[in-house]
Amino acid sequence: MEMSVAGQKESIYGTTLSGLRECMQEWRQPAYRAAQVLEWLYAKRVEGFAQMSSLPAALRAALEERFEFATLEPVRVLGSEDTTRKYLFRLGDGALIETVLIPASPALYGETSDRRTLCVSTQVGCAYGCKFCASGLDGWSRNLSAGEIVGQIVRVEKLSGERVSNLVFMGMGEPLANFKNLQPALEILNAPWGVEIGARRITISTSGLAPQIRLLAELPMQVRLAVSLHGATDLVREQIMPVNKKYPLAQLLEACEYFAQRRKQRITFEYILIRGVNDRVEDAAALVEVARRVEAKVNCIPYNTVEGLEWERPEEAQQDAFMAVLKRGGTAATLRREKGHDIAAACGQLRRQTQVERGQGPA
Ligand code: SAH
Ligand code: SF4
Repeated sequence: MEMSVAGQKESIYGTTLSGLRECMQEWRQPAYRAAQVLEWLYAKRVEGFAQMSSLPAALRAALEERFEFATLEPVRVLGSEDTTRKYLFRLGDGALIETVLIPASPALYGETSDRRTLCVSTQVGCAYGCKFCASGLDGWSRNLSAGEIVGQIVRVEKLSGERVSNLVFMGMGEPLANFKNLQPALEILNAPWGVEIGARRITISTSGLAPQIRLLAELPMQVRLAVSLHGATDLVREQIMPVNKKYPLAQLLEACEYFAQRRKQRITFEYILIRGVNDRVEDAAALVEVARRVEAKVNCIPYNTVEGLEWERPEEAQQDAFMAVLKRGGTAATLRREKGHDIAAACGQLRRQTQVERGQGPA
């Protein structure tokens, strides 16, 4: 369990079953009380200890004293039912993060699919400074606590009245740079006593932190891994992703192979298509080679323009030519032409826009 900052309470949403059992022991309460607290939280979804009516008053008071219901205050919601909905949350210290709810696309999953994917943030800002990304523009402020990560799911489910079926860690921040809080959050999100989302329905996206990819391979749960590749050679990749200097392609691909073999799982390479940077046919040919080596699937996404950045998405004809090379090379690849421009879809954009509008400027 994460230690609380002096004078601050821990978030109850960052607390695991074993963490609560320790509390019960300390408070000389029977162990089953821990499971009872979690049932109130995740099965009944109450938002205060006072409502946990099956608990003795003294225990409720002890819980109240140690824990808080981390407040994620929705400051803006964009989009509506049936479309992608984007939530801008204010955290306890005033920091802003984004969480995006994406309904099933009927074209991909059929009219009756109740698949709902939530895209969550793991940090305030990002230290990795990929040159095309809005999240990294203002640098890194802090890690989200486990409670703030889990809180996004609980909050969106409450606000929307819908259950989330799939999770992608593709919001603001680099999840694997916040491994210590990501790990308990994943446990809580996956556990039958917690949010209970199947591990195979959880995808962690990383810009390529090779050592942490190996750590992720050792977790007891089968979460999926997506790697933001965006370049299939060091030359292309290091132009847009400074992290490639620290973990060059060879080292990254070794870690990917390790993960894929150890987990017996196909990983996904995310590849945003940026005009004139990584969208030539020779880039596609290099991508075929890299994907073959790791036996990875490839997910191509035309770049979403970010205000203040000069990058653009390629023409559709160029996108098609790129995809044709992948297809001929036998790469399992998809092209996701999302219509997200209107609600500032790419990660970090809504927060940035809001800060600019409020004259707060970069954090
Ligand atoms: N830090 C992690 C997860 C968050 S970013 C990572 O980099 O993987 C999630 C994905 O959004 C990454 O693949 C990232 O490269 C992509 N992305 C960032 N800015 C984008 C933009 N303007 N258009 C399209 N995709 C973008
Ligand atoms: Fe950070 Fe990911 Fe954006 Fe790169 S793409 S700056 S790693 S959030």
